[in-house]
Amino acid sequence: MRQLITQVSRVRLENTVRSLATIPTRHTLSGARGADAAAAWLERELKSYGGNLQVAQQRWVQAAGGRMTKAVEIGNVLATLPGTDSPERVLVVSGHYDSRVTDVLDASSPAPGANDDASGVAVVLECARLMAGMRPRCTVMFAAVTGEEQSLLGSAQLAKSLKEQGKSIVAMATYDIVGNSVSEAGKRDDKHIRVFSTSDELGELATQATRRKSLGTDGDSPARTLARAIADSARRQVKGFSVALTLRNDRYGRGGDHSAFLAVGFPASVRFTEPGEDWRHQHQDLRVEKGTKYGDLPEFVDYNYLTRVAQVAVAWLSELAQAPPAPVRVSLKQNLSAQTTLQWAAVDGAVTYEVLWRRTTEFDWSGSKSFTTTQAILPLSKDDYLFGVRAIGPQGARGLPAVVGR
Ligand SMILES: [Zn+2]
Repeated sequence: MRQLITQVSRVRLENTVRSLATIPTRHTLSGARGADAAAAWLERELKSYGGNLQVAQQRWVQAAGGRMTKAVEIGNVLATLPGTDSPERVLVVSGHYDSRVTDVLDASSPAPGANDDASGVAVVLECARLMAGMRPRCTVMFAAVTGEEQSLLGSAQLAKSLKEQGKSIVAMATYDIVGNSVSEAGKRDDKHIRVFSTSDELGELATQATRRKSLGTDGDSPARTLARAIADSARRQVKGFSVALTLRNDRYGRGGDHSAFLAVGFPASVRFTEPGEDWRHQHQDLRVEKGTKYGDLPEFVDYNYLTRVAQVAVAWLSELAQAPPAPVRVSLKQNLSAQTTLQWAAVDGAVTYEVLWRRTTEFDWSGSKSFTTTQAILPLSKDDYLFGVRAIGPQGARGLPAVVGR
């Protein structure tokens, strides 16, 4: 995994952003010389990576209505690495290739969309390129989706089709606005990427809700468990750059493609966005006003920062792709004891296990211990701590934890 991380190419990331920004507009309604040209470029690019990637466009006619002024055939560009072990378990990483200006219905004005969201698409492509030769345990889907600005149309179509195919989405993450390191207020932060995660308990059964409320695992929704695992993977694998947890679904009053996955009942869906946004360079007509340049142009993307973001993406995605699934039947012994005894069923492909813990007042795991057996006895009070158990695969790849009491 470390080797893949060192191969992230700043030059390729910049080339993707600039190539997409060269197309006059990628607005969802822009047709042959706009969005379709972008989709064709993305398909060619993904196919050029070879390896085990299966590349295809998912195309459909999007009906008129809402932010669609007419019915138009549109498409997502998908590259899939089939899982060797459990192909029905899927990891999805996405960015949206459509762009916009001030008026969301303006399909002809120049809309380079360099940061929103060619930056995210560039991260997805770089992950696909570097992981193309892998034979992952579960399926990995690299998605460049359309129609985000017209109300998450592409991600909704993708989520719906995965639902219909009966896939289990282990993790879904959208990279959207991830290439700028200086906020509109002028504050520079090129050392973090934010990951947003919802508290939503989608598909939760009544018995699970009772358990959650009784045991205080309200802060451990599938999205937050995934967000913590991503932050942990980055901590172990990428130096000098980290993932900052934001415990809400998205920025205030705003949305993104992960919400389309949440909407169909895939709860482990999160969003990545830079720490400080500059709204002069998002959703803007290209213009100069009182000496200030407006517009989402490639010159406003920090490619060194984008490289770090892509390194984190490759780190967590390649780790989860190779890791065993989360343990099942995790139980905590009900006894009046100051110790905590945990047990779980053996996981296929696990070499060792790791128990994670944190105080009920902490928002992220703060302690861990490895075990070669499927039982752990810890000198910690089960009344004061939350616990998780994860399986570790042959190359040290850590899977998602099962949180005790969920
Ligand atoms: Zn966006």
